[in-house]
Amino acid sequence: MSDTRLASLEAFLDGHPTIKYIPPSSPDYPSKREQWNTGRSDTPLAIVQPQSAADVSAVVKYAKSQNIDFTIRTGGHNIDGKAIVEGALAIDMRAIAFVNIATDRQAATIGGGILMQDVATKLGHEGLATPVGTVPSVGYVGWAMYGGYGPLSAHWGLGVDQIIGATMINGDGEVIKADEKLLKGIRGAGGLFGPILDVTVKIYPLKNVLAGAILFDSKDIAKSLVDYNVGYQKLLDSGLPSELSVQQMVFNTPTTRLYGISVMWSSDDFERGRFWVEKLACLGIIIANTVSIRNISDWMADNGAAVPLNVYGSARTHNLRQITPQVAEIIGHYITEMPSNPATVFSIHQLRGPSAAPKQNSVFATRELHYMLEILGYATVAEDRGKAEKWGVDFARALEESGEGNILPTRYISLDGSDEAHSITRIFGSNTQEVLALKKEYDPNHVFRLTVPSL
Ligand SMILES: Cc1cc2nc3c(=O)[nH]c(=O)nc-3n(C[C@H](O)[C@H](O)[C@H](O)COP(=O)(O)OP(=O)(O)OC[C@H]3O[C@@H](n4cnc5c(N)ncnc54)[C@H](O)[C@@H]3O)c2cc1C
Repeated sequence: MSDTRLASLEAFLDGHPTIKYIPPSSPDYPSKREQWNTGRSDTPLAIVQPQSAADVSAVVKYAKSQNIDFTIRTGGHNIDGKAIVEGALAIDMRAIAFVNIATDRQAATIGGGILMQDVATKLGHEGLATPVGTVPSVGYVGWAMYGGYGPLSAHWGLGVDQIIGATMINGDGEVIKADEKLLKGIRGAGGLFGPILDVTVKIYPLKNVLAGAILFDSKDIAKSLVDYNVGYQKLLDSGLPSELSVQQMVFNTPTTRLYGISVMWSSDDFERGRFWVEKLACLGIIIANTVSIRNISDWMADNGAAVPLNVYGSARTHNLRQITPQVAEIIGHYITEMPSNPATVFSIHQLRGPSAAPKQNSVFATRELHYMLEILGYATVAEDRGKAEKWGVDFARALEESGEGNILPTRYISLDGSDEAHSITRIFGSNTQEVLALKKEYDPNHVFRLTVPSL
């Protein structure tokens, strides 16, 4: 069956020589099908790498005409590895990678296959920036269109709120500009409506940032976290500047487990930035401090060096209104009990600032000040997977049971793990019916079936 489909695909590709083709027999196939989550080892029918909008259009028209299932793959960092599906054609977008800055320098059009680091680097060379995530190899569009938390979110908002335009392939394989209605869907549920060729996003003048990690004494890691959060809440109550962002993190080194914060100050008033970074540094006993003036691309490259390339396992997440003393105690317990694999990680992002306010032009649901918890139950080797996942499941459940109105009903799709089937309501909350209606309107024949989320 797959032989017949491959023969048909090859006949189509003969007429489209610009589209790169990686069949299962290619020596490149194993590495090209690989994703960050190695635990999912699906084998696609084949991988195609379109080089242009016309190529993507031709592939979608062909796949539709032959009723061939296909997926869209960019950075391959979907937490469950859903960009590759057994027996489906994988459309690898990574060749469609460009950044075109508008002449007024207020917006940039960014290719649908570009990776995070390239966005930061290309804008950075021009003294410009837009909100980005923390890891260089994540796909920019995949990050931005589902939410897009990162160190510039408090200042300028989530990735999703930067999107002001998009070019897509529709269910007939035609290249279209997204209208306002479709843009609303793309801002939160982007993957549902077809391959995104490019997004136009807001950009801001920013050459360098004050950024790095502050690691706290972690002998009693639970106490360090509890103490930090008590102090941080006081700072928050007295008012934090929007240029300051903080992400808490717990990770394993070969010899020990560490608790710390990743800090970014995003304005060129570095004196003021140092004042605020110092206030954060005072919330614990410092064992290392790498905060310095640098560009975002270099900062991101350093983060990338600390992230394992391939993992086994799954992630869990919760959105919390506050890190209450009870929550801090639960977190303290689970970070003490955390398995020691380098891929097992816990992290807390905070959303405050412009994106934490209600918005009518987006289906992203969690619009209030909150903490987004990343519980990464992963391991670098398959043998440790069970232990890491069990830790993650137990941790998430303990938080759930602590409830009392502190846990928000919606969860961030990009960190919501696999063993509980994605509930659309849990992702989109009160926007769910609108997402379903948009899907019906813009993909009436359900051409885009293997999407994130899956409907
Ligand atoms: C190590 C790591 C770090 C992360 N850091 C952050 C972070 O700091 N902040 C945050 O908010 N999230 C973060 N995430 C989550 C990440 O943003 C999402 O998983 C994102 O969707 C990954 O995009 P990708 O292109 O790399 O993944 P892929 O697996 O290639 O794509 C994921 C899905 O997105 C869709 N898709 C991708 N590109 C396109 C396109 N051009 N057109 C249409 N659909 C497309 C497809 O449906 C695909 O199945 C992180 C994930 C990992 C694994």
